[in-house]
Amino acid sequence: MSENNVKIDVVEFMGKKLNFLDLGKDISPDIPVYPGHMKTDFWWHKTHEETVFSLGDKSNYKLGFGVKGIITCDHTSTHVDAVYHFDPNKSHLSVDKITLQELITPAAWIDLSFVPNRTHITLDAVKKGLDAAEVTLKPGMSLLYWTGIEPYGVTDPFYYLSQYPGLDEEATTWLLDQGLLNIGTDAASLDTPADLDYPNHSVHAEREVIHTESLVNITKIPRHKDFYYAMFPLKWVGLTGSPVRAFAIWED
Ligand SMILES: [Zn+2]
Repeated sequence: MSENNVKIDVVEFMGKKLNFLDLGKDISPDIPVYPGHMKTDFWWHKTHEETVFSLGDKSNYKLGFGVKGIITCDHTSTHVDAVYHFDPNKSHLSVDKITLQELITPAAWIDLSFVPNRTHITLDAVKKGLDAAEVTLKPGMSLLYWTGIEPYGVTDPFYYLSQYPGLDEEATTWLLDQGLLNIGTDAASLDTPADLDYPNHSVHAEREVIHTESLVNITKIPRHKDFYYAMFPLKWVGLTGSPVRAFAIWED
């Protein structure tokens, strides 16, 4: 256990002891959804009792098995935006086409919580965050940045969904110029809701780079660099995004 009771799991993998930190939110009917997006619901499609009933007296399997139905949005909870989300002409880059190379990437995280709500995160701010964390970006990496909006996802969902800053066009262009494969944030979008021109979504469409939204625990990653960012979307054919299991992984 680290500080603030965030649990770091040690997993033996490929002969190494690796630390895993969960960076994803739950998916449930209780989580806040982006204004206008479909809400999530679950229901019993077939209960254990119904299975026992349909198996009848000839079966010795008396526990039954439960199956639930799901209705949700492809951008619910912690999720990845596929390139198709940004551009209707890029249906060949739907979420099921995300490459294995994009799933696990060397990564760094920076603190941009000094940027005021509903303003742009400028290139100066990004460079300040990188300098403070002593991070140098390299091609093939992912960058996670923390806006500080994360706690409001629990305490005040409307504030969480409306008050965060977002990268401006110059900042996001420069970041993609460094060869990043993914950018992640604790905010509900890389674009601040104060800018309806969506500079990140348009630059990511042109450069064909995915991004990840609504992450948690970024600040609990105990090092700013020399870890891996892993995010696993489902292979939903033709969809524009997917909820992800997201992790930071590092070796001591
Ligand atoms: Zn999204």
